[in-house]
Amino acid sequence: MRVILIGPPGAGKGTQSERIMAEYPLAHISTGDILRENVKNGTELGKSAKSFMDAGKLVPDDVIIRMMKERLAKDDARKGFLLDGFPRTTPQAEALGTLLKELSLPLDAVLLLEISDDEVVNRLCNRRVCSSCGAIYNALSHPPKKDRVCDECGGEVTQRDDDKETVIRSRLSVYHEQTSPLISYYDGKGLLHRVGAAGAPDTALLYIETMKLGV
Ligand code: ADP
Ligand code: ZN
Repeated sequence: MRVILIGPPGAGKGTQSERIMAEYPLAHISTGDILRENVKNGTELGKSAKSFMDAGKLVPDDVIIRMMKERLAKDDARKGFLLDGFPRTTPQAEALGTLLKELSLPLDAVLLLEISDDEVVNRLCNRRVCSSCGAIYNALSHPPKKDRVCDECGGEVTQRDDDKETVIRSRLSVYHEQTSPLISYYDGKGLLHRVGAAGAPDTALLYIETMKLGV
């Protein structure tokens, strides 16, 4: 099964991916996670990406495309994958199309997570993340049991640098301008499926189950 998750920041791509991964043996490929890992480790890629990420802007296409060519060529991608946060622009989608053709790995579905801008701002302002294991919390509705300490691994629970309100607004406008054209792009290929993302974080998983894509 080869699936893309598209949606605005805060739609819950990360949480929905976790639910899907618990049921299907796929490679979960999140460009945001790969970039943050590179920033944390101070790699050249991380250094060049950080200023864009902190401003809520997209990292340039050529950097992302190079990074994803490497990632998708790895063996584990052959067992199926879930792309989370990629592609985010039309050039990225076109590059992905070419690459998957070369690798003979056609896409099965593109799931669009739908949620309003207000709900996104509300969610992200309160989002907290474990800096060690990536577990996701909400300061209001799902805080860690002990203040700032991860329930799962004891790591430090913090706010992402780009989860501040001004940056969230900027990430949303980037989404509407640069990523939303992918909706009609994939609709035109007959691959787009709309999934509500304002409620429970398992709507994408349920949708996949009803589509019976197989593993
Ligand atoms: P969110 O979807 O919540 O904005 P991500 O973790 O997917 O968060 O991405 C965080 C940041 O990483 C983005 O704001 C952007 O700067 C960068 N990024 C992630 N994926 C891409 C991509 N496909 N193209 C360009 N930049 C990206
Ligand atoms: Zn943790």
